[in-house]
Amino acid sequence: MARSKPKRNEKRDGLRPFERLLAEISTLFIDLPAGEIDDEIIDAQRRICESLDLDRSTLWMTSESVPGMLVLTHIHQPSEIPSPPEHMNTRDSFPWAAERVLAGETLAVARMTELPAEADLDRESFGRYGARSTVLIPLSVARGKVFGALTFAVTREERRWSRTLVQQLELVAQIFANALSRKQTEKLLEERLQFEMLLSDISARFVNLPPDRVDGAIEEAQRRVCESLGLDLCALWQWTAAAPASLIMTHIYRFREEPPLPQPMDAQEFFPWSREQLNRRNIIAIASLADLPEEAARDVESYRTFGIKSTCVFPLAVGNAAPIGALGFNAMRAEREWSDAIVKRLQLVAEIFTNALVRKRSQNDLIQSERRLRLITNALPVLISYVDTDLRYRFNNEAYQAWFGVDPQEAQGRSIPEVIGERFFQSARPYLQQALSGEPVQCDLEVERADGRPLSVEAIYVPDVAEQGVVRGIYVMATDVTERNLARQQFRRLQDELFHAARVATMGELTGALAHEINQPLSAIMSNAQAARRYLAGPTPNLNELKEILNDIIKEDARAGDVISRLRALLKKGRVEMRAVDLNSVFREVVALLDTHAVRGGIKVSSELDPKLPPVQGDRIQLQQVALNLLLNAFDAMQECPVSKRRVLIRTWRQDFGIVAAVADSGKGIPAGDSEKIFKAFYTTKPEGLGMGLSICRSIITNLHGRLWVETTSGRGATFCFRLPAATTRSGSRPPACTPPLP
Ligand code: ADP
Repeated sequence: MARSKPKRNEKRDGLRPFERLLAEISTLFIDLPAGEIDDEIIDAQRRICESLDLDRSTLWMTSESVPGMLVLTHIHQPSEIPSPPEHMNTRDSFPWAAERVLAGETLAVARMTELPAEADLDRESFGRYGARSTVLIPLSVARGKVFGALTFAVTREERRWSRTLVQQLELVAQIFANALSRKQTEKLLEERLQFEMLLSDISARFVNLPPDRVDGAIEEAQRRVCESLGLDLCALWQWTAAAPASLIMTHIYRFREEPPLPQPMDAQEFFPWSREQLNRRNIIAIASLADLPEEAARDVESYRTFGIKSTCVFPLAVGNAAPIGALGFNAMRAEREWSDAIVKRLQLVAEIFTNALVRKRSQNDLIQSERRLRLITNALPVLISYVDTDLRYRFNNEAYQAWFGVDPQEAQGRSIPEVIGERFFQSARPYLQQALSGEPVQCDLEVERADGRPLSVEAIYVPDVAEQGVVRGIYVMATDVTERNLARQQFRRLQDELFHAARVATMGELTGALAHEINQPLSAIMSNAQAARRYLAGPTPNLNELKEILNDIIKEDARAGDVISRLRALLKKGRVEMRAVDLNSVFREVVALLDTHAVRGGIKVSSELDPKLPPVQGDRIQLQQVALNLLLNAFDAMQECPVSKRRVLIRTWRQDFGIVAAVADSGKGIPAGDSEKIFKAFYTTKPEGLGMGLSICRSIITNLHGRLWVETTSGRGATFCFRLPAATTRSGSRPPACTPPLP
């Protein structure tokens, strides 16, 4: 932006022309926009030279990146005299003068012969550029670090520099220094802003970047950072996972593709000292290879081979975890200092790369483990999936293809009814809802395959519960149990037949007693009928007597009918019917059936039945079979006891959420060590025994989720107990199992 310069005041204002010029210059530079400072400095140099009849003014700045180097930034001189070079190494040209000026001293040299002997090199350099008389003034702000020098020179003659003039020129230097420092600050701010924008752009690129694109993005970012900061080479190294760990270069940017680099490049071979430092998480910032310690001789050699003059390397690490690699920035064209500001910026780059690499690694790990999971789940002959809380598939194994004809990949994101059909979904729904409430469920379901064949499935739904109990989804596992169920049905049929056969056999044993049981009422009926006939044959039949006789006949008939119907029930080969059964009445009926048998054996049967016994879930006939077997075994066990001691006690009581029944006898008991053997099929100690009774009893009780066991002491009787869940608690606390488990 052009800015109108203050009008040169030609009026006489009491100031001499140079003083007026100084006043003008100092006003001009106040608030001068940074973009105009350079031009105005050169213009001011010209006006000062013209005003004081000087031949040349130069302004030098110390190089930021190369120590000891001065850069010529502003010059005014007539074209005919030789110009100094743009870059001047003070060590080679003006070692004596530069040392003083950079230490903050102004040098005013009227003639070159004034210079001391140790300034020979300086004298020669002044001569080379035609200076016969010169003033060198340090540039610094508020006596801070010197960052340059302002010079004035006369080439035509020698010239005395008065103290006042030197002070006035120092004032000029002060004005320039302030302006340049302001410009520098603005430039730094601008650079910082630009770098921060670059950084935020780079980090934005890494967000959500798929793992296979991270490497390319890193190389691109390496190039952009190097270009932005004037760096020549950026190398990224990574520690290998396999032991022994190596630090291998994986990403590189170079401003030129030379010299060739070995592949792979192992830090152990080329930079052993640096590798050790990085492993210990130290940052290395070296302006000159000469700054490296002796132990780093191999590193120095490698740096030279690869044309590197300065280096700044950061370990790549997250928190306290072991470093995952290293990031090095290098200068190849000239040595360069690594200021705190630049180190901080580069460290930010290192952090961005670290995060990107860590994310890439964890995503890769995830992909790996998902691949492994897929391999495993696909190899299993079961259906495996994961659904989210909207009941949409997030993972499916290949069984979905075989069962429902749905590609596992295509199933992802689709809802359960879409994939397996609305009908199956409706039957699974209550169980899925239960899993969503946080409870694992196991259930049997009937589904249809893609080809229309029916499929029996045992499904397990396990909720995926996050912290604080929030359900995130459900793991689903389903097994094809069609064949197992068919086998199970077959088994049940055979089992029922066996149970029936056993009942018939048991009844066979009881024929004598049962015949007696029926004969008794029959003979009572007969004698009553004969008595009635006698009454009727008399002259005046007593109708009241006859009525009583008929009542007796009806009663006896009912008694015989009872026995027969109980027998029929036990011998019936009907369907197993599961319902709530009162176990007390089961025992009562069986005791009634065995009444004669017991009397004949001289056995006293007594009962202590809990009147508040809850019902159990089961098949009445099967439970009667259990009671019958236990009682008959008890009777058998007492055959050798004196009649007076033959006692059987039946007890029932409630326990926890179920009932317990016990049949205790005073028989011979069971020898120690045999209390499990007796439940095995075909185990018998009786000459006519089959050895199936207890085995059948145990199957029946186990099928009803119960337990049958014996408590005994040899010679002192045995007590057979069984425990069953009460009908109400079983159906109330969990969803009904579709089929009771097999033993
Ligand atoms: P079986 O009655 O045909 O022998 P079980 O399976 O009913 O078949 O019984 C197996 C064996 O268990 C019997 O032979 C007997 O040795 C033993 N046993 C069963 N009940 C009793 C009991 N109450 N007291 C003593 N031993 C018993």
